[in-house]
Order: sequence, then C-alpha cells, then structure tokens
Amino acid sequence: MELPRELMVSVSGVRGRVAEALTPEIVARFAAAFGAYVSTAAGNRRARVVIARDSRTSGPMFVRAAISALQSVGVDVIDAGLAPTPTALYAVRHHQADGGIVVTASHNPVEWNALKFASAESMFLDAEQAPRMRTFLDTVEQHRATWDRIGEVTTDTGAVERHLRAVLDAPFLDINALRKRRFRVALDCVHGAGAVLLPRLLEELGCEIVGIGLEPDGRFPREPEPVAANLGDLERTVRESGADIGMATDPDGDRLALVSNTGRAIGEDFTLALAARLVLRHRSGPVVTNLSTSRLLEDVAAQAGVPLHRAPVGEINVARKMQQVGAAIGGEGNGGVILGDIHLTRDAAIAAALVLQLLLETGRSLQEIVDEYPAYAIVKDKLPRDAGSLDAAFAVLTERLNAPEVDRQDGLRLAWPAEKRWVHLRASGTEPILRIIAEAGSLAEARELVEATRAALAAPARAAG
Ligand code: MG
Repeated sequence: MELPRELMVSVSGVRGRVAEALTPEIVARFAAAFGAYVSTAAGNRRARVVIARDSRTSGPMFVRAAISALQSVGVDVIDAGLAPTPTALYAVRHHQADGGIVVTASHNPVEWNALKFASAESMFLDAEQAPRMRTFLDTVEQHRATWDRIGEVTTDTGAVERHLRAVLDAPFLDINALRKRRFRVALDCVHGAGAVLLPRLLEELGCEIVGIGLEPDGRFPREPEPVAANLGDLERTVRESGADIGMATDPDGDRLALVSNTGRAIGEDFTLALAARLVLRHRSGPVVTNLSTSRLLEDVAAQAGVPLHRAPVGEINVARKMQQVGAAIGGEGNGGVILGDIHLTRDAAIAAALVLQLLLETGRSLQEIVDEYPAYAIVKDKLPRDAGSLDAAFAVLTERLNAPEVDRQDGLRLAWPAEKRWVHLRASGTEPILRIIAEAGSLAEARELVEATRAALAAPARAAG
C-alpha cells in the first residue's frame, strides 16, 4: 500500500500530523496489520489487544478507527481509555494480551498523533518484530473476518488504579514515612494523560499538590516536551508555593522532569540519575542507559560500584539490554526511568515515587543533592548527510579523534572517560541528517568537541589505498 511521504514510520510505530499524513484510514490500515500480525502469532486462539490513548483531541477518533480495524481482522479489543503509556503497557501484561496499541505522539507538539505498538511481553516492538508486523500492511485483506468472526470489544476501567497499586507496591518505597513527610509537590502534566495518574499517586504518597495543567484535555498550553526551556511556569509555581520539588510529565506520562526547590529546572538527565541513586542504595546491580545519555549516570554507578551498560538509542534497546544484564534499574536521559520490578518500560509514576523516596532518605533538599554532582554541559548539533553508508566517515573520525573508548552499536560514540567527555554521532531514522551530541565538563569544552568532530568529518579524506 502507498503510504503518505510525510508519514514517519519507525521501529516504535507510525507518526504524522493529524489531517495530513495521519488519517483514520492510515490508522485503520496499521491497526489491522498489527491485528493480523498478533493473530498469526496466536495461531488458532483468538488474539486480544489492549488499546489506550493519551489526551490529544484526535485520540478518540483514531481509537475508534483502530478498534474497528482490529475487530475487522477478528481480534478482541480491550479498551483501556485515556491512560498514560506505561499504564497501557501494564494493562497488556495484566490481561496477558497478545499486544497493545497506544494512540499517542508522546512529547510531540499538539498537531501530531501516532500509534505505538507493544508485544505480548508488554514491551514495544523491537527491530526484528516491527518490520515483520509491517509486512502485514500489504496482506490485510487476506485476514478480514467474516460476519461470524468479528472481534469483540470490552472496556477496562481499572487500568489506572491497577498501575497505581503496582507503583505503590514497588520495592524501596516507605509509604508510611512518605505520608508523614508530606512533601509539597508542584505538578505540571501539560493537560496530558499523566494527569489521570500522577495526582492520584502523589495523594497516596501524602503529598500536598500544587497543580498546573491537570485537566487531561490535550490542549497543551506550551510546547509539551518537558525540557528545561519549556518549564518556566512550573519553575514559577515552585518558587511561589515554596514547593519541595516540581515535577513535569510529557503528554503520555512516561517521562518525568524535575524542578528543584529553588525553582530551577535541573535538566531531564537528573531524573534517571536520582532514581538510580535511590535504587542503588538498596540493591546492587548493573545500570543501563542509551549511548546519548549524560555521564551523570556513570558518576552515580561508579559511586555505587556497579557497571553501567549503554544500549542503542530507543526505549526497546535499553529494555532488552536490561533483560540481558539483569539490571537494577535503567532508562534514558530524557527523564525515562525503567524499573524492571514493575515493567520494562519508561514510567513517570515510578520515577516520581523513587525521587521522593530519595529526598526522604537523604533528608536533603533537591538542590543540595543536585549540587553534589559536576555540572556537565551537553551540546546537540546536526549535519545534512547523503543517503548511504557512514562507515567510511566514521572510520576516518575514529582515527583522527583517537578516543580511548569506541562504541559502534548505534552510529559512533567516542569517549574520553578520564577527561569526562564524549561525542555520539548517529543518522536520524526519519530525516536525512546526522545528529551530533557531545558532553563535557563545560559548555565551551562541549562546543569545542562538536567543532573538532565537524572539522574531522569535513577535512578531505586521504586517498583510499
Ligand atoms: Mg512520552
């Protein structure tokens, strides 16, 4: 089938601007293909798929299209309604479903929406599963159900509550002590799906909530990605309310960013670093993150005497590596914390609970804790690139920059651990660009590293021979 050129198809799903590349017809096609894919795996048994959505205004429309399409290929649907992405994946596991579809464009602006596909493992499809699922796009018609085999739809109204109970049961949380401490938390859910879970969680933890953006109506009043530059209102709310901490989720509630008690957004990298610090106080084991995440986590792992493993960028890659190495905790520097005790997916609710437990146990303010760590600076840049292999360019770069650590799992990552700096280059999966991300002890040093990388890439290569 011919797909619109602007539709962004990746391992985790399919994304587009509403009314442009993303229409009910496209959503139905992908949902039917996914239904056929999970049905084939289920054999003679009738497959079941959980569906949920974030709060975007286009969500109900796309959910209806996806449900009809799933029914049309004989799949039973469990509709979990408006729910954060981690809640949806927790429901897949609870129902022992054959898969899940989450209608969410995550942190993308309001005009976007997307489908994300999860397997029976309640994890997102990986690089082997996703292309296999997409082969069904062309054969959907062969899988349509006759009148007597159309899928049935049931509603699950308990998904959020069940996920909430799982988070409250997580190891290391001292619920009674947290309740007594009565943290004051400024919370910004950006009118996203996090608003149906995070306030409930904080209430259960005895927090006093000063909320902004808690109506899950999908009308984001600002850019929804919880990066520091977008959290001005939350910073002000923390200062004016005298909160102990500020918390911001992205629209589908899998990422959490923090504002310190002084009213400063401390950067998303701190969320995983602090959650890991808490977990490693109680448990020893490897930590996993992706190749583009801050060194901050290396400092936390080193202090606890545990190894840090890095995986290719993409949540599923981190989750798979966590399985392989038996990780104590893992996640991404974008505020995505994964605690395998609950599930192998990023979860803002568990991140929030772990950070509050850390404040409780250390008895220190968030700003005091943050000040213990070196102030790293990350610089992000991009270069246009031609189609084709980057291997030759990466080989030249590796030779010219002569780094002690070279990682080729996902593009090229060069690291100088003694100097506490690294640079990571990878081709974008959706645009003809090469992304460069560098980190060092100061902004000037990080910029210098990006410039050195650009210069080494641009300099004419020596004649092949
Ligand atoms: Mg998200």
